[in-house]
Amino acid sequence: MRTPIQRVFLTLAATLVAAVCGMLMTFVLESVLVFESAEGRLGQDSVQLLREVSAILNESHSVLRTMNASQAGFCSDAEIASFSKLLFTSQFLRDAGRIRNGKIECSAALGRENLPQKEYTPSATMPDGSSLYGDISPYQPHEMGALGQRIGESYGVLDPYEFKRLDSISVNRSATVIDSVNHQFRHPGRVPPALDGVVYDRNWGGRVGSYLMATRCAPHYPICMTTYVPIPQVMQAKRIQLISYTSLGGIAGALFGLAVSQLYRRNRSVVQQLRRAIARDKLRMVYQPIVNLASRRIVGAEALVRWTDEEGFAVGPNIFVKLAEERGFVGALTKLVVRHALHDFSKTLRAHPDFRLSVNAAGADLADPAFLPMLQREVHQADVPAQCLAIEITESSAVKSQMAIETIHRLREQGHSVHIDDFGTGYSSLSYLNDLSVDAIKIDRSFTQSIGTGSVIGSILPQILAIADSVEMDVIVEGIETEEQANYFANADGRILAQGWLFGHPVPPDEFHRIATEDEEKQLVPMTWA
Ligand code: C2E
Ligand code: MG
Ligand code: MG
Repeated sequence: MRTPIQRVFLTLAATLVAAVCGMLMTFVLESVLVFESAEGRLGQDSVQLLREVSAILNESHSVLRTMNASQAGFCSDAEIASFSKLLFTSQFLRDAGRIRNGKIECSAALGRENLPQKEYTPSATMPDGSSLYGDISPYQPHEMGALGQRIGESYGVLDPYEFKRLDSISVNRSATVIDSVNHQFRHPGRVPPALDGVVYDRNWGGRVGSYLMATRCAPHYPICMTTYVPIPQVMQAKRIQLISYTSLGGIAGALFGLAVSQLYRRNRSVVQQLRRAIARDKLRMVYQPIVNLASRRIVGAEALVRWTDEEGFAVGPNIFVKLAEERGFVGALTKLVVRHALHDFSKTLRAHPDFRLSVNAAGADLADPAFLPMLQREVHQADVPAQCLAIEITESSAVKSQMAIETIHRLREQGHSVHIDDFGTGYSSLSYLNDLSVDAIKIDRSFTQSIGTGSVIGSILPQILAIADSVEMDVIVEGIETEEQANYFANADGRILAQGWLFGHPVPPDEFHRIATEDEEKQLVPMTWA
């Protein structure tokens, strides 16, 4: 037994653990969702960047092709003038000119004089033969550098401000140009040291170190755009959402923990109460008459146990008998029922040895070596014939094990009748009736209730009655509530006994004896099962 302080402490501990679990689970789930949505947004940004870059490259491409088709002399005044004209109508090119063996020969902006004397090496070569220059000086108005493109002997300088504008789409970005010749990859744009060396050459997204990133590649250009964001920044942005959902998870966990611990306590205390009730003999017995359907005379009674818990709630036998069976003390319950039933009926049984008093045995009783000796002792103490005591066994427990079959055999050897309770509900085949020697079957209430409804369950009733007749077993029909149900069985072959509200509810022993005596006096025939 735990002290109240221990109980409170355990409840608090369980609630706390459940709350922490709830918080952790929600936090993890919420973080995944936050990451997923941030990654989705990064993906969209990358696609948008790709569109913009593709538009720039497309235009440059077409201008460079036009320049290559020039009929004017190489770097002639006419050619430089035509380049200026092209630039005037171009959206993204800021300069255009001629390049030969890596050296700029002339351009619309620089003319033919004072040209840079350096040799330019392309950063990447595209599959269509064009080249990209990562940084083409002297066009360097700001930190971005200027990107150049070359086709044949024409080159163009892409507007750095256009690239700067792309910053407004995504603050953190980098572009990867996939070099088809050298199979090398470059990352122009800003890449934090943590992401340096990571190759972004296919569509993907996820965590890299403490960054979340998404890469999208253009279908027609070997160019990929990557956008990224530091994870703490994502978490910071969703801080309120994370805190509120995590708190809700904690509250839900705490409530769940509280409910489970209360349920567990209630369950534990129900078991303890039941144990106490058995030990203190606080259960009550009621008895329901069993009648011969033809004469409607009472020929027996079924003992049914009742329990009201310490809080005053009546608990159904279906619940507490099962609980006692699960917790391994149904033997004590059965013993109590047998003792009370024999005590309540000892006089009747001595006067009418053909009267059948039925008690229910649980499946576990059949496997209990103390069960048969207990019955023997109780019958001896009550000084009644063993044949008066019928044992009801449910169908499923009867066929469950060799041990149960053995116990049924020994029960009959000891003089008791054995009845199969709730017949038709537990076992699909009827053929086992031939192998299992029992005295009666109690047809389950569900069959009785199906009479007149045209249901399938009812349709096998004639078959059950025929089998019982052929193996000369008594049939007790359970749950008869109406005359229509009684008449259905009254017309059947063989001897039918019946139990149900039409003939009597389960009542305390005094009331049962009063009703039985009235019944006997009315008919002036002694009560008899046979
Ligand atoms: P059972 O052995 O099949 O008992 C018959 C049940 O049907 C009883 O329910 C009874 O009150 C109910 N009943 C009888 N006639 C009618 C009727 O015309 N209409 C309706 N609707 N119901 C009727 P109860 O007393 O609630 O018992 C339920 C089950 O609990 C029993 O089914 C039995 O399996 C178990 N049980 C009851 N007492 C004991 C006991 O002392 N020991 C064991 N092991 N099990 C018991
Ligand atoms: Mg029964
Ligand atoms: Mg039954």
